[in-house]
Amino acid sequence: MAILEKNGTKKPKWRINVCIIMAEPTTISEQQIWDALQEVMDPEIPTISMVDMGIITAVKTNTSGTEAFVEMTPTFSGCPAIKTMEQMVHDKLLEIGFKSVKVVTTFNKPWNSNLITERGLQHLKKHGLAPPPKHSGQITQDLLENVTCPFCGSKNVDLKSPFGPTLCRSLHYCNNCLQAFEQFKPVV
Ligand SMILES: [Zn+2]
Repeated sequence: MAILEKNGTKKPKWRINVCIIMAEPTTISEQQIWDALQEVMDPEIPTISMVDMGIITAVKTNTSGTEAFVEMTPTFSGCPAIKTMEQMVHDKLLEIGFKSVKVVTTFNKPWNSNLITERGLQHLKKHGLAPPPKHSGQITQDLLENVTCPFCGSKNVDLKSPFGPTLCRSLHYCNNCLQAFEQFKPVV
């Protein structure tokens, strides 16, 4: 492969081919939207993507693959970051080549913590947050007491406060590694 010199005199032949490929109409698949949105992080927990958080609920493209449609359901309706999240999704999809992007926020089907993907649960732990246990549509005492320390994996933990810095988190203390931590509470 020829290297273009600073003064631009040595133009490599392959450059022409690249230009032709770029001129073709691009078709972007729905899978590529999901992949791109894996890089858009939840504004409140930057170790987890909006996809893994279960916030992105549907993606579509038109037949020519130039327009994208995304539906999202934030974790709770009072979420102050909704506009920011819509903008981040919008900008990301323009960046991968869409001509037009429509992002719609809906609460028709409320978010619940079972929507967090397996990878998402791992990423919550990386952030030092105990992930919410899977539930069967009901919050029970057992569920609330089923807390595992994100640092050492011990279940020997005490509840310090049912409300952490935000309503969706509770505060705990691990009797094994002697560290305080927050749990992302289960939401049904
Ligand atoms: Zn621990």
